[in-house]
Amino acid sequence: MSARACATGMAYLAKERAAAIEAVESASRVCKAVFKKLVTDETLTKKDKSPVTVADFSAQAVVNSILEKHFPDDAIVGEEDAKDLRGDEGRVLRERVVELVNSTTKHPMSADEILRAIDRGQYAGGPTGRHWALDPIDGTKGFLRGEQFAVCLALIVDGQVRLGVVGCPNLPYDITKPDGERGVLAVAVEGQGAFQKRLGADLSDETRISVSNVMETRNASFCESVEAAHASHSDNAKIAELLGITKQPVRMDSQCKYVAVARGDADIYLRLPSSNTYVEKIWDHAAGNIIMQEAGGRVSDIDGKQLDFSIGRTLSANKGVVAAGAGIFDMVIAAVKATLANKN
Ligand code: AMP
Ligand code: MG
Repeated sequence: MSARACATGMAYLAKERAAAIEAVESASRVCKAVFKKLVTDETLTKKDKSPVTVADFSAQAVVNSILEKHFPDDAIVGEEDAKDLRGDEGRVLRERVVELVNSTTKHPMSADEILRAIDRGQYAGGPTGRHWALDPIDGTKGFLRGEQFAVCLALIVDGQVRLGVVGCPNLPYDITKPDGERGVLAVAVEGQGAFQKRLGADLSDETRISVSNVMETRNASFCESVEAAHASHSDNAKIAELLGITKQPVRMDSQCKYVAVARGDADIYLRLPSSNTYVEKIWDHAAGNIIMQEAGGRVSDIDGKQLDFSIGRTLSANKGVVAAGAGIFDMVIAAVKATLANKN
């Protein structure tokens, strides 16, 4: 038991861990309800992005109100704000969000309470104190395609990620059974290892996960974004070639990629920047980052620098992301550097 745990008589961050799981499971139910009701509704065309917008706002309202119930003083860095839900212009969207939130929670909330809950996510982040980082729906494109997306929540204390929960409603529980049961929740607390359970199952369902023990990169597989605008598929391919990788990349949306590598479904996650100007957001990486590390993996940017979550809402000190098991991580970073050096 750590010194902090001894001091409190409870496992370190036990209450936060339970609250974060409750929040992510509730938000995952919101997303699933939307998907069932709206995305599969034959009257909506695939081009209609509003289902994911409604789900995004609703999921943030649900997570933030659960966090407020347990930790009223904690700040939240959430991806969304309620601007688009206010006034006459926001009325239609607002009504859909209010209806959805109240159809999935036990305690009905007024429109004002919901907007206020969403706007609790506007904290600026930074190096001191505690705050949560929330992506209510990471991988919105995957959500709309009926593929992978994730509800991602992390706790940052004094600039370091200490706890992460990623809910993956569409991820197969067992990757060797891709048509088997779906819905995974991955969770990690600093120093306590990484675990998965079936989404919605009791805590007794938790089992420890760890990265693969592949030691030779030519035997490795890597995953990357589906969207070429989010990561350079061509740079990733060059790196894979240098590493002798022959397997086709596993493409999936969202922080499900971190979970996939953390439990050994794939060995490497490559996110080479596709643009020089894009700055990664903390809510897109905080939870996945600690789950990877607690599963025995390593995560850095393309220069091999740790991701710095202490600056604010963005990872402005970093470019891109690389994650892999500790056994091959240095080789992967060497290939990333060689590939980028060749380019310039
Ligand atoms: P993924 O599903 O891994 O492709 O990542 C989804 C996330 O990519 C979204 O949550 C966005 O915040 C983020 N994103 C948006 N534009 C970019 C970009 N140009 N480069 C990298 N990530 C981006
Ligand atoms: Mg995201």
